[in-house]
Amino acid sequence: MDQPLRIGVLAVQGNFREHLAVLGRLGVEASEVRKPHQLDGLDGLIIPGGESTAIGKLVRAYELESAIRAFEGGIFGTCAGMILLARDAVDGLPGQPQLGLIDIVVRRNAYGRQVHSFETDLELAAGSRPLRAVFIRAPWIESVGPGVEILARHDGRPVLVREGRILVAAFHPELTDDTRVHELFCKVVREAVSVRT
Ligand code: GLN
Repeated sequence: MDQPLRIGVLAVQGNFREHLAVLGRLGVEASEVRKPHQLDGLDGLIIPGGESTAIGKLVRAYELESAIRAFEGGIFGTCAGMILLARDAVDGLPGQPQLGLIDIVVRRNAYGRQVHSFETDLELAAGSRPLRAVFIRAPWIESVGPGVEILARHDGRPVLVREGRILVAAFHPELTDDTRVHELFCKVVREAVSVRT
């Protein structure tokens, strides 16, 4: 048996409770992260959706910015979390913190101008059943760097991508019963652990 993974969820604003619930269902030791020392001993971290400017300000206020940059485990960002992790955000507010841990450029509220929220089925790997995905005032991914692997698209645009130990989704996998994206993140975290040990 593998050791249970320890995954923290950034719990300053947004959908952190829903992520904690999914991790609990998967048998992960899940904890809330509000202070830098709460990252100690974790194998992975989720940065949830919510409001990226609010999360960014609180990350700064709680002195988590450099701690997250220095964190070596797997990191999964959904929606606002994806915006924070991106190299750059088009239409971001001036001074919005950008952790720059994945080589993608995102556009905030890209779908939000026409329709604030929608649900759709995404194709994952060939042959597997479709993944129901909830988009809420979602950003889209404008461009990806050469090291970024595209795992799902919507209307031709990447919406689930991975670069090494960093996974990001434009949608909210914590709001549906399908746990495949969190399971994929657990795999990313395990790979990151084995690289470090
Ligand atoms: N529109 C939000 C932002 O820019 C993200 C929405 C979400 O996380 N559901 O921060």
